[in-house]
Amino acid sequence: MTNRYDYLIVGSGLFGATFAWHAKRAGKRCVVIDKRPQLGGNLFCEKISGINVHKYGPHIFHTDNGDVWQLVNSIVPFNRFTNSPLANYQGRLYNLPFNMNTFHQMWGVLTPAEAKARIDQQRADVVARMRREGISEPRNLEEQAMLLIGRDIYERLIKGYTEKQWGRPCSELPAFIIKRLPVRFVFDNNYFNDRYQGIPVGGYNRLIDGLLEGVETRTGCDFFDLCRQSGVDPTAMTRYGVTLQGMHFDRVVYTGPIDEFFGYSSGHLAYRTVCFESETLDQANFQGNAVVNYTEREVPYTRIIEHKHFEMFGAEVDACPQTVISREFSAEWTPGHEPYYPVNDDHNSRLLAVYQERAAQLDNVIFGGRLAEYKYYDMAPIMEKVLAMPV
Ligand code: FAD
Ligand code: UDP
Repeated sequence: MTNRYDYLIVGSGLFGATFAWHAKRAGKRCVVIDKRPQLGGNLFCEKISGINVHKYGPHIFHTDNGDVWQLVNSIVPFNRFTNSPLANYQGRLYNLPFNMNTFHQMWGVLTPAEAKARIDQQRADVVARMRREGISEPRNLEEQAMLLIGRDIYERLIKGYTEKQWGRPCSELPAFIIKRLPVRFVFDNNYFNDRYQGIPVGGYNRLIDGLLEGVETRTGCDFFDLCRQSGVDPTAMTRYGVTLQGMHFDRVVYTGPIDEFFGYSSGHLAYRTVCFESETLDQANFQGNAVVNYTEREVPYTRIIEHKHFEMFGAEVDACPQTVISREFSAEWTPGHEPYYPVNDDHNSRLLAVYQERAAQLDNVIFGGRLAEYKYYDMAPIMEKVLAMPV
C-alpha cells in the first residue's frame, strides 16, 4: 500500500527544516531527506573536545525581525554572542566593521571629525575621476570601497581579502558586495546593525532538531538516486505528485542546486567554495576572538575561526583546556566540492533565468533556499520567507 504525504522536502538545511516545521503546524505530513550523513545543511556543528565546531563555516544568527527571533528562541535559547571580527594586516590588528576604533588604529585620529576629514582626503582622487568621466554611481567594488572608506583602508583591509574571497580583481567585482559592510563614526565593533543576534545555546544542531521534531527524516538519501531507483524523471513531475519507493508525495520542496535538478542540461552555474583546515590545539585560547580575518593577499587563507568563542565567554574559555581552529580558504567551485556562494555575474544570471523558466512550469515543485534560488541568503531571511509561504 502506498503511504501518502503532503510534502517530500529535499534538504534538511534551514530552508527545509523551517518548511517542515511550518507545514507540520498546518497539519501536513512531510518527509525530509538529505544526502549528507547528518541533518542541518550548512548549520551542522560537530562536537570536538567539548566544542561545537561549525563544519560548514561560522554562522551567526542576526535579525531585526522580532517574530523570527521569538520563534528561534522558543525552540532553543540564544546566547549573547556579538560578532566583532578583527582584521590582521601584516601583523597589526584592526577592529571591524569600519568604525572609530579602526580609524584610530589606522591613522591615530581621535574624533569623528578627524576621521571624516581623513576619509574625504583619501577619496578625493576617485571622486574627481568619477566627476571627470561623468559617472554618478561606482562601477565596481574598487570604486565603491574607495568612495566609502578611502585608499588606506581599501588597500589594507579590503583589497587582498576580497580578491582572495572572490578570486577576481576588485575592479571586476560588483559594487554591492561591499555595501553590506557598515561604516560608523562611533566606537562600536558590532559587525551587524540588527537588533538581535546570537548563537543557540548548545549549538545549531539543537535548532535544527527542534524544527524537525516529530518529522520523518532520512539522511544519506539522495533525491536523484530515489528518482532513478523509482524510474521517475523529476523534471517531468505532474500535478498528481510523485511516488517514490512506495510513498506518494503531493508536492516536492527542493533545496538543492537548481542546475542539478535539470541535469545541468543548459550548463553549470558557477559558485565560490570554501575549504577548511581544522586543528585541535592543546591550549585554551589561540586568538582570543571567534573570527580573525587575514586581509593581505600573501596569506593564503581568508580567516581563522576559533569555534569555542561562539559559545564560551570569560572564565569558560580557560576552563576548557583545548581549542579548535579552522583556517578558511576560498576557491572556485568544481564538481565534488560544496557549492557555497553564487557568482551573480551576467553569464550566471542568464543561465539562472533559463533554469527558472523551466522550474516555473513545474507546479508541484517548490524551489527554495540558497542553492535552488541561486541566491546569497542569510539565515533569518530564509526563515522569514518560509514562514510567509502558504502550505
Ligand atoms: P543548505 O544549508 O545548503 O541546505 C541544503 C541541503 O540540501 C544540504 O544539507 C544538502 O545536503 C541537501 N541536498 C542538496 N541536494 C540534495 C539532494 N539531491 N538530495 C538530498 N539532499 C540534498 N547566514 C547567517 O545568517 N549568518 C552567518 O553568519 C552566515 N555565515 C555563513 C558562512 C558561510 C561560509 C556560508 C556559505 C553561508 C553563511 N550563511 C550565514 C548563510 C547560511 O548558511 C544560509 O542562509 C543557510 O544555510 C541556507 O539554508 P538552505 O537550507 O538554503 O541551504
Ligand atoms: N570584506 C573585506 N574585508 C574584511 C571583511 C569583508 O574586504 O575584512 C569585504 C569582502 O569583499 C566581503 C564583503 O566585504 O565579500 C562582505 O563581507 P561579509 O563579512 O558580509 O561577507 P560574507 O563572508 O558574510 O559573505
